[in-house]
Formats: sequence, structure tokens, C-alpha cells
Amino acid sequence: MRILLVEDDPMIGDSLRKGLRGEGFTVDWVQDGPGAERALETTDYALVLLDLGLPRKDGLTVLSGWRRRGLTVPVLILTARDAVPDRVKGLDSGADDYLVKPFDLAELLARMRALLRRQAGRARDLIEIGALRLDPAARTVEYRGQPVALSAREFALLRALMERPGVALSREQLEDRLYGWGEEVESNAVEVHIHNLRRKLSSGVIRTVRGVGYRLGEPP
Ligand code: CA
Repeated sequence: MRILLVEDDPMIGDSLRKGLRGEGFTVDWVQDGPGAERALETTDYALVLLDLGLPRKDGLTVLSGWRRRGLTVPVLILTARDAVPDRVKGLDSGADDYLVKPFDLAELLARMRALLRRQAGRARDLIEIGALRLDPAARTVEYRGQPVALSAREFALLRALMERPGVALSREQLEDRLYGWGEEVESNAVEVHIHNLRRKLSSGVIRTVRGVGYRLGEPP
């Protein structure tokens, strides 16, 4: 799951990026307002974590611009501005949630999961399709009732397919979900992950759609 982190404080940004990567997220980190705008123009993100006090363009201005243009990506504001009028202004500008610094990574992750659930129209976290069961909070996968150990990228790839059952995703779309900027991607990386998933689950779990990409197989 690819997210955009907008934070100009190098220490906070670095520790957040590490913490989120450790949880299996693909994180692109930008440090000013215009950088955030450019990132959202070129990349599809599942969620944006947005600081408010940013160089060159304030976070609220950036956010208002996105909403005016009809962008619906969930935005969670992370800021030290804790006064009630600031929070109200943040939410009224189009933020989906608001977390005041300093915060605990566990709380941030829970709020991110809540926003991602809501975006996907689900009231709870668990995704169950056929014999597959994926728990984003616990980061576990079960197949036919048995736990299956997956790498972070295998998990992210399976999740991407399970979130859109019946839809074929291209190799490029899957790469986008799995790798952030500046990350080295082997040309056959997606194929390797797919191969491993089929080996660990079953070959029918992921179908190749010729000329298009991959989709989840029929529920066994
Ligand atoms: Ca700041």
C-alpha cells in the first residue's frame, strides 16, 4: 500500500518513514507544499499524511487545492497545532482525520487503517475472499484456515488484488503499489512475487490475464 508522507522535519519524517515501512507500507516522503502537489499529480496514493507547517506552501492550502480539484484521497493531518480552531479548520479544509504531535505510532497506524477501511467501504479490517483471509492490522494471511508466512511485498501484492477482486491489475499498477521512489525494481519483480504467492498458496489463487496483468482467481 503506497502512501505519501508530507513532513519537513527531517527527524520526524525519517522515523515515520522507517516505522511505516516496517509495517509494510510503501512510503514516498516529500518535505514541502509544492513537492506534495507534484507527488499527487503523478502518483496514485492510498493515503496522505500531511503536516501543516510546511515550507513554500502551507499544508492547509495544499489540501484545500486538492479538494477543490475533486481529489478524494484520504488525508490525515499530523501537526503540532493542537488548538481547537486549528483542528476544526483542518477538518473543514477536507482532512479526514487529525492527529496532534507527538503521537504514538500505534495510534497513527490504527487511524490509517480506519481511513483505509472507510475508503474501501468496509466497516471492518478483515478481507475474506473464498478460502483467503487477510488481516491488515495483524498483517497475517490465512489460506484454508492455515496461516501462511508472506514477505512484506507479497503481502502488499496479495492485498492489492484482494481489495479489487475481479479486476485485473497491470504489472505497472502493482509495481506502483509495491515500490516507492528511488527504490530499485528488478524488471521481473512482480512476476517473482506472483510466483512465490502461487507457490505458498495455490497456483489458482492468482490468474494471469493475458495482455493485461493479474487478478485474483475464482474462490476455490
Ligand atoms: Ca512542519
